[in-house]
Amino acid sequence: MRVLIVEDERKISAYVKRGLEEAGYAVDAAYTGKEALDWAEAAPYDVIVLDILLPEIDGLSVCRELRRKKNRTPVLMLTARDSIDDRVAGLDAGADDYLVKPFAIKELLARLRALSRRAGDVPKSPIMEFADLTLDTSTRQVKRQGRTIELAAKEYAVLECLMREPERVLTRTLIAEHVWNYDTFNQSNVVDVYIRNLRRKIDDGFDVKLLHTVRGAGYRLSLHETD
Ligand code: CA
Repeated sequence: MRVLIVEDERKISAYVKRGLEEAGYAVDAAYTGKEALDWAEAAPYDVIVLDILLPEIDGLSVCRELRRKKNRTPVLMLTARDSIDDRVAGLDAGADDYLVKPFAIKELLARLRALSRRAGDVPKSPIMEFADLTLDTSTRQVKRQGRTIELAAKEYAVLECLMREPERVLTRTLIAEHVWNYDTFNQSNVVDVYIRNLRRKIDDGFDVKLLHTVRGAGYRLSLHETD
């Protein structure tokens, strides 16, 4: 999951970025409304966390502009006070949810999980399933045949990405764009390295292999062997 955080107060931005990264998210930070629109066009975010008070272009205008451009990425609006007017303005501008500052990272994480579930092709339940493999997005626990599998944060993020669209071939670029942020993703083989580790952890010792390489295309979760 890749998140864009738009907040001009550096302290709050850094606090949110750190909290989300610790939870395994890839995070880019924009500090003005203009930057937010540029970033949103350049990368496929899973969620945008957007403060209302921003220099140049305020958050409400950013949100309206995104929707005008048919960008449907879920937007979580940050408001300075819990006033009905702010909330209504945010929702009217096309935001999907809002959070009042100050907030705990734990609450932000819960809102992001709910938003990404609402986003369409993801099941409503916090538990994602494929064959005998389950991934609980609320506890970040992964199990196969009931056995817990320990994954590093980025391995988990790659698996979550694959589990959102089982049977579909995902290219390295697509996986990378949802798992790494702009600063850290620069090696083309990084995805292969994580896939290798992931495969060892979820497939070794099981008769049916789930994670397949599709030569020249990418990777997919499937119950069928890829030729
Ligand atoms: Ca602000």
